[in-house]
Amino acid sequence: MYYNENSILYLDGQWLKASEAKVNLYSQTMHHGNGVFEGIRSYGSAAGPNIFKAKQHFERLKFSAERMAIKFPYSVDELVKISYELIEKNNLENAYIRPLIYLGANMKLITCGETHIMMATWEWPPYLGDESLKVMISSYQRPNPKSIPIEAKVTGNYTNSILATNEAKREGYDEALLLDSDGYVSEGSGQNFFFVKDGVIYTPPLGNILPGITRATIIEYAMELGYPVVEKLFVPEDMRGGEVAFFTGTATEVASISSIGDIEFKKDWKETVAYELFQMYRARVTNEELSESAVG
Ligand code: PMP
Repeated sequence: MYYNENSILYLDGQWLKASEAKVNLYSQTMHHGNGVFEGIRSYGSAAGPNIFKAKQHFERLKFSAERMAIKFPYSVDELVKISYELIEKNNLENAYIRPLIYLGANMKLITCGETHIMMATWEWPPYLGDESLKVMISSYQRPNPKSIPIEAKVTGNYTNSILATNEAKREGYDEALLLDSDGYVSEGSGQNFFFVKDGVIYTPPLGNILPGITRATIIEYAMELGYPVVEKLFVPEDMRGGEVAFFTGTATEVASISSIGDIEFKKDWKETVAYELFQMYRARVTNEELSESAVG
């Protein structure tokens, strides 16, 4: 699904067949989860592939590396260029791009000084599908930001996401919504969260979440359309009586939520502000000029 015989990936300055690339099994990333990554999308536009907010994504990759003391001997502009080449070499336009910084062989619990970069791409439909989601309040909390850098995309952080998703699926739900260690709503396993009540759009503030690029984009669009957006802490009960709730993320795009535990959102998705924002997102990501006018 992620690659076939023709797929090309970028590895430490070389273009290789994905099926022939090799990795060191003693890598610190493999054993102790110290690596950083990004999730980026390219969209077909009239002017060719448009990698949405490419620069911002690679800047976040750099930021994530810094937070883990991982060497980052690359320039953001160079990585943007490589990401466009990657799309071209794989003959893709609408695709997901996965850069990963992984480390050399090292079993010590201190950041390994040997940095590697790989970048791969594949076609990927919206991560949570197109149907409205039945969401579970997870029994897993987001890690306390004093334990790990929750604001960075560190490979090891995602064991928390995997536990929460496993639980949600096991219990018959589509996805998990996690609370932070103080009991406030934080985010999904790999998405930021919003809900709308009495015409006001609410989303958790930065602090216990990954500062999503899609989140910032949706906030900007909502403000452009004149809708009030409030970033504040709230508990699940505050969402009761809300019109709509949704997740945002690069892989997910904008995904509607029909219920969270026993809280239901009854308004027809297509009549909500969330749907309007989703339409705006879809229109802009496929338009090079318009996507540049947004954040970053
Ligand atoms: N939260 C988490 C935990 C994520 O993994 C992601 C995906 N990167 C997001 C939120 C959404 O971030 P973005 O909109 O930048 O993709």
